[in-house]
Amino acid sequence: MKAILSPLLVACSLLLLTQCHPLKEQHTTTPPIQQVKPRNVILLIGDGMGLSQITAGLYSNHNRLQIERFKQIGFHKSYSSDDLVTDSAAGATAFSCGKKTYNGAIGVDPDTIPCKTLLEEAEDHGLATGLVATSTIVHATPASFIAHNPYRRNYEAIAGDFPGSGIDYFVGGGLKFFQNREKDDRNICEELRKEGYLIQDYFTNDINLIQPDPKRPFGFLTANEDPLTAENGRDYLLPAAQAGLTFLKQRSSKGFFMMIEGSQIDWGGHANNSQYIITEMLDFDKVIGDALDFAQANPGTLVILTADHETGGYSIIEGSRMDSLVTAFTTKGHSASLIPVFAFGPGAEQFQGIYENTAIYDKIMALMGW
Ligand code: MG
Ligand code: ZN
Repeated sequence: MKAILSPLLVACSLLLLTQCHPLKEQHTTTPPIQQVKPRNVILLIGDGMGLSQITAGLYSNHNRLQIERFKQIGFHKSYSSDDLVTDSAAGATAFSCGKKTYNGAIGVDPDTIPCKTLLEEAEDHGLATGLVATSTIVHATPASFIAHNPYRRNYEAIAGDFPGSGIDYFVGGGLKFFQNREKDDRNICEELRKEGYLIQDYFTNDINLIQPDPKRPFGFLTANEDPLTAENGRDYLLPAAQAGLTFLKQRSSKGFFMMIEGSQIDWGGHANNSQYIITEMLDFDKVIGDALDFAQANPGTLVILTADHETGGYSIIEGSRMDSLVTAFTTKGHSASLIPVFAFGPGAEQFQGIYENTAIYDKIMALMGW
């Protein structure tokens, strides 16, 4: 009898305790960690940057990369709604809208319905916004943050989504999709100028010398079509990113959202060209270091680095030495392997673990309270 009674008594008195002293009970549990809301979000996307691409960059650079400064690391599952192997459009739309969609979709769901992007959320919440790419600025990755189109190659239509978007800063190639267009007479550069933008291009200005005025939104078109490779002399990614961070910081008192893409790591993979991958990887790594420097100097800045997918089925094989890699490819296309995610700044620990690519959107939305 006693043996049954005493646990009962304990249970009853515990019940009484919690009922009579609910506050006391709360004090005995660990209080939830106060999550600091990021002020700025820098999303860095290395297109086609799988672990082998990072590894090849690392060993080719005397075993050091800026990426090593990240301490919070996870993986995402990159598949799209219609293929285990994603393309860059569905891959970027997963980040921008939090939706798995079909390969080729730009900011639209599987039913081609436009979905609200992180850049649009940031605009609606009064943040400044920016996009920088080493492809054209209407290419799948940047396009998925600003445009809505059922098909990624509708470049002129995608450029037509820039006016009215409110974007504060953009740098990338593709001038021909903005003016002297094939399908209509719209001059998107002029339309943007009418909205107050300072629009410049590679013809008339040097991107390395830009100092945009934070009182005016700014766009720079770095090539008529695709920008050069880093190997062939393209050198604007770092200055465009640095000028952009300085500009966006001054542009809004509420903070900013900026996406910076190392676009051509992917093209090196498609070309099965290891040297192309490595030079693009190291060009991008400089920007990664700069973003981390900015985040250290400006607390409240969350930096997330990831890729949309891996390209080439790239691997570093036996016979390699650090200064002379032997590499192999299994495809001219993309592969389905898990993709690393690196985070730094407020909320960075949320990016640990293994999750869907769409969770990157979910985590940013939750941290920002949107
Ligand atoms: Mg891309
Ligand atoms: Zn690709």
